[in-house]
Amino acid sequence: MSHDADVIVAGAGLAGACAAFVLSAHHNVHVLEAAQPASGASGAAAGLVNPFMGRRARPVWQLHEALDALSELLDEAGAPELFPPQGVLRPVIEDDQESPFREAAAEHPDLASWLSPHEVRARYPDVHTSVGGFFVPRGGAIDVPAMVRTLLAAAADRGATIETEAPVVYWHETPSDAIVEVGRGRRTEELRADRVLLALGQGYGRFPELRRLGLTGVKGQTVRVRRPDSLTGPLVPLSGRGYVVPDGDDALVLGSNYDNNFDDLTPDPQATSYIREKTARMIPDVDETKIIDEQAGVRVKHKHSNLPLLGPMPRRERIWTFTALGSKGLLTAPLFARELQEYLNAPSKIPGAVQPSKE
Ligand SMILES: Cc1cc2nc3c(=O)[nH]c(=O)nc-3n(C[C@H](O)[C@H](O)[C@H](O)COP(=O)(O)OP(=O)(O)OC[C@H]3O[C@@H](n4cnc5c(N)ncnc54)[C@H](O)[C@@H]3O)c2cc1C
Repeated sequence: MSHDADVIVAGAGLAGACAAFVLSAHHNVHVLEAAQPASGASGAAAGLVNPFMGRRARPVWQLHEALDALSELLDEAGAPELFPPQGVLRPVIEDDQESPFREAAAEHPDLASWLSPHEVRARYPDVHTSVGGFFVPRGGAIDVPAMVRTLLAAAADRGATIETEAPVVYWHETPSDAIVEVGRGRRTEELRADRVLLALGQGYGRFPELRRLGLTGVKGQTVRVRRPDSLTGPLVPLSGRGYVVPDGDDALVLGSNYDNNFDDLTPDPQATSYIREKTARMIPDVDETKIIDEQAGVRVKHKHSNLPLLGPMPRRERIWTFTALGSKGLLTAPLFARELQEYLNAPSKIPGAVQPSKE
């Protein structure tokens, strides 16, 4: 039987959009999205590109390559303006952050520098720190839903079909086909392809085959607030205790919290208060200014690894997954997506650490 597409990509979040864009250069791609693009975690993300994460400013995996991959992908999609050169500032809020931040700056002089309190005040007078800050010029922030939409539009320009309100409800494979069932109202339709790439993000929970890969989810929330009138100086994306990302001239996106026990995905007022209080330690008055909106999503990660999963599902050849981007999708999705074409041709080249396996 003939194929409806070379590759079916299920899910149009960051993973699915990066994959669809890259693969559409070589293949006939069909994207099936259950709702609308970026309606999962990608719609809740603050969009911080911070290659030195956590309280100890640890570098992300392959940090140079990850930053290059992100810029190259946006250039190729004709949208470099989505990632303006701003940098990320990590102001020291608690004293125990000073020495790991200074050490990281000393270890990575090509990517980061240490700023004294005087230097922080001179550049960004509204940022509170009595100790100093760690500055990463190649970091910054991206509007993630805009990036997802841009990549899908660029994939469509290359001939990809992008379908929304088209949930994948079942999949299986034969020696010659990967087959998905797509929900179409009360009925389902079968679509066939050479490969299927499941990029379901926080939608993994409904499918035992995905759950068995050892995935887990952590709910998080971002809060968009009006920029306080008291802020008068220039501002860059900040990651100290929580994060603050400027959104246009009038708004700031504040994040985030980590909730391992959650029943639903509605934003939680207590989490909002917690986020506003902690970010007010970096920037004054963000706990007082008007809330514009709140978004919650689930960061999907592997229980024992900080790397994404990419490759054929266990005991499958044609059904692949690309998931577990954790809290740094912007620094993992482009990096792994750019290798996808090569991996499809030669699955043995997929690094063992990212290959999906049963728990
Ligand atoms: C609060 C919060 C803040 C974050 N901040 C940042 C940040 O600042 N920087 C950063 O790099 N990362 C951040 N992240 C992480 C980042 O959002 C994720 O790593 C990334 O968005 C995950 O993308 P994804 O495509 O794997 O999943 P998702 O974005 O969840 O996308 C999955 C898509 O699949 C669709 N889908 C689900 N089930 C089906 C189905 N059966 N059939 C078809 N489609 C389906 C969904 O509708 C959805 O559109 C944050 C996450 C959260 C929750």
